[in-house]
Amino acid sequence: MKNIELKQVNSGGCCETAAKINIDLEASLNKELPIAIIGAGPVGLAAAAHLANTGERFLLIESGGSVGSNILNWGHVRLFSPWQYNIDKIAKKILEDHAWKAPVLDELPLGCELVNDYLIPLANLPEIKPYLLLNTKVVSISKKGLDKMKSANREKSSFILYLEQNGVSKRIEARAVIDATGTWSHPNPINADNVWTKEEKGLKQHIYYGIPDIKGEHKDKYKGKRVAVVGGGHSAINTILELSQLNNGVEITWIMRKKSIEDAYGGEDKDALEARGELGSRIHQLVDAGQVKVYTPFFIHQLIKTNGGITITGESKGSEKTLSTVDEIIANTGSRPDFSFIREIRLSIDNATESVEALAPLIDPNLHSCGTVRPHGEEILRQPEKDFYIVGMKSYGRAPTFLMATGYEQVRSIVAHLTGNFDSAKKVELDLPETGVCSVNLVSQSSTQSCCGNGVSKC
Ligand SMILES: Cc1cc2nc3c(=O)[nH]c(=O)nc-3n(C[C@H](O)[C@H](O)[C@H](O)COP(=O)(O)OP(=O)(O)OC[C@H]3O[C@@H](n4cnc5c(N)ncnc54)[C@H](O)[C@@H]3O)c2cc1C
Repeated sequence: MKNIELKQVNSGGCCETAAKINIDLEASLNKELPIAIIGAGPVGLAAAAHLANTGERFLLIESGGSVGSNILNWGHVRLFSPWQYNIDKIAKKILEDHAWKAPVLDELPLGCELVNDYLIPLANLPEIKPYLLLNTKVVSISKKGLDKMKSANREKSSFILYLEQNGVSKRIEARAVIDATGTWSHPNPINADNVWTKEEKGLKQHIYYGIPDIKGEHKDKYKGKRVAVVGGGHSAINTILELSQLNNGVEITWIMRKKSIEDAYGGEDKDALEARGELGSRIHQLVDAGQVKVYTPFFIHQLIKTNGGITITGESKGSEKTLSTVDEIIANTGSRPDFSFIREIRLSIDNATESVEALAPLIDPNLHSCGTVRPHGEEILRQPEKDFYIVGMKSYGRAPTFLMATGYEQVRSIVAHLTGNFDSAKKVELDLPETGVCSVNLVSQSSTQSCCGNGVSKC
């Protein structure tokens, strides 16, 4: 780790030097503090690799019991971007220095392979492991001795992080904070107004938020059940396709807000991404064959638990409707960032996407396809709170188009800035697949392609 160097300070005239010494001393003292990275997903770990590479002190704080905890929730899902775009360049270099062998770069890994074959080896490196705190949740961040309103001396004060580790509270100090906590653990509700109602909260036992492992862990959960899948994206399509293959008496209802079912099929054979087009065609066939009951546009207002199951009521084309009762619901309705633990931090967040404000015009899903996101770095991600950054999936807020490759460039630039390499911080470059990649989740389509054999996830 870097030592503090005061010898460069003594230059210039007397008064100027004295002032400079004070400033540099303060800066140096602050520099002794680590940079705190919150969240050990692919982007938080990449930040750690970049900091380790520059010899800078850091702490990587992860609430889960493993790195890549959020990804392990969808470990059975095949990524749509190949290894080539999923590995950070500096992380790769450090790993290879330790004799790690990179996977075949043009293959598409499952989520669990991404964690097992890349993130865990990275986290176990001697450059990172001693500074990684697992099972440790950041519950609040503030500036030392200041509340949000106080401006005096704010930039020079350190950050204070409140942590919870195995039921014990801790307080640590940091000179900068990189929030890489993702959005996965904060799903949107199925309520059409995007509001968490008491009824929906009370039905959590019967609502699965995310992508169930229908061929593996959740194989029997839906046997002979009436299942409603809510959402119009590729996650919902994947879920329905997998449910339909179970052949175990499951009855599928598909609920969306889209104007028409055709909007969900996408480009089919005209899609730039073959696999994505294929998903659209397969669901089209399934609907045409009458194997799925479709309600669209349908705006869910209320869920009522009865002895016979769950009754869903809502609005369709101007009139109130009640749908046939179901037993289980699968919610594929996206997720949102959690700002609760950074309430004391001065933030600039876009009021529509909830992304980092300056990023919003680049990523607004109404304006951009996934592959057209311009590369961006420290300058775009800068917050009013100096040396505080939101990166990775969370930097995109509610926009669903984030790619790991984008996150790796974000943290490269931020680390360059925080370590005084300002020219490098400004030069942002991003190498993305030409066709653009959207939210296509190739759920273990072929058992031979699965890391875990027979399409059943071991992760
Ligand atoms: C099904 C699916 C498929 C995807 N496929 C691709 C793909 O093919 N290619 C691609 O580029 N992108 C893909 N993405 C998008 C994105 O790249 C991933 O979601 C990626 O995991 C985001 O990385 P991240 O590090 O920003 O966040 P995450 O991976 O979500 O990591 C956040 C980490 O922070 C931890 N954490 C959260 N809160 C706290 C706290 N308070 N204190 C401490 N730790 C905390 C979590 O436990 C988690 O480990 C996909 C996303 C999904 C959902």
